[in-house]
Amino acid sequence: MKAIVAALLLFIAMTAQAKPIAIVIHGGAGKIDRDTLTPERESLYHDTLRQALRAGHAILDQGGTALDAVEAAIVVMEDAPLFNAGKGAVFTAEGKNELDASIMDGRALQAGAIGGVTTVKNPIRAARAVMEKSPHVLFTNRGAEKFASDNGLEMVDPKYFFTERRWKQIQTWRKQQKAKPQAAAEPDRHADYFGTVGCVALDANGNLAAGTSTGGMTGKRFGRIGDSPIIGAGTYADNRTAGISCTGHGEYFIRHAVAHDIPARMAYKNESLAKASADVVHTVLKPVGGSGGIIGVDTHGNVVMEFNTPAMSRGFIDRDGKTKTAIFK
Ligand code: ASP
Repeated sequence: MKAIVAALLLFIAMTAQAKPIAIVIHGGAGKIDRDTLTPERESLYHDTLRQALRAGHAILDQGGTALDAVEAAIVVMEDAPLFNAGKGAVFTAEGKNELDASIMDGRALQAGAIGGVTTVKNPIRAARAVMEKSPHVLFTNRGAEKFASDNGLEMVDPKYFFTERRWKQIQTWRKQQKAKPQAAAEPDRHADYFGTVGCVALDANGNLAAGTSTGGMTGKRFGRIGDSPIIGAGTYADNRTAGISCTGHGEYFIRHAVAHDIPARMAYKNESLAKASADVVHTVLKPVGGSGGIIGVDTHGNVVMEFNTPAMSRGFIDRDGKTKTAIFK
């Protein structure tokens, strides 16, 4: 009898092990000035990344869905003024905050996104509402805002998104634009302007989900939408291959359909997540000037964090429970 119970327990332990969970996040790729990054600020980045990871991982650990984990981790980063998403969003050329976000469920390729919103406190929640409560994938501007408020999401005054740090950045950007008129209307991705957030998770049922949320690029034109809310460009998840969330110069990520290209290479060329990601980030994007990075998780719980910029704030808890956060290479 004892032997049977022991065998049964071993079997349960093995099946539990056979179902890995994993979560990976990014807090944006770009240049970050080591000189302006005080030790306090650096540890704040690490603390917030860990907080976001723990929020998502706790859900996965209790048998929750990848979708819930992605939303929970992103909400932590949207609420932190540190990142260029939600509360800490960058300013447009006109001095406003316009937010974009998307989420995708790898089970049945369901997806939702919103673009150019100014009053939705947590854009990732609005993206999820679009996926779950409408037959559509992407809403923008007033339509997105009306949809979010009709669905009971928390709405805020646009002033909620004002932060002193981002306001200073747009003033600097404006001065730079005056000094070099030939570069007029070029959005900026320079020192410390980065901070888009994203998360990819694998749950115990083998489901993958990915999400991305951003304020876009400092000095972007009114109405400009980047890659973050574009399914296949900034976000993608397919249970058969991998989930991906991107950060970087959005126009390049849209043109190269980056978030879809990586899982597609895995499916068509039988490449690993690591190989497909490295090829896209370094041999497709980098030579054409597409600066940025990606995070991903595959069906087996393998995690990837690949970038061609000097820094990408990032972190993961992998299938073995190993936790790591980092900013520089
Ligand atoms: N990809 C975002 C955008 O182009 C910006 C970023 O990730 O830093 O809107």
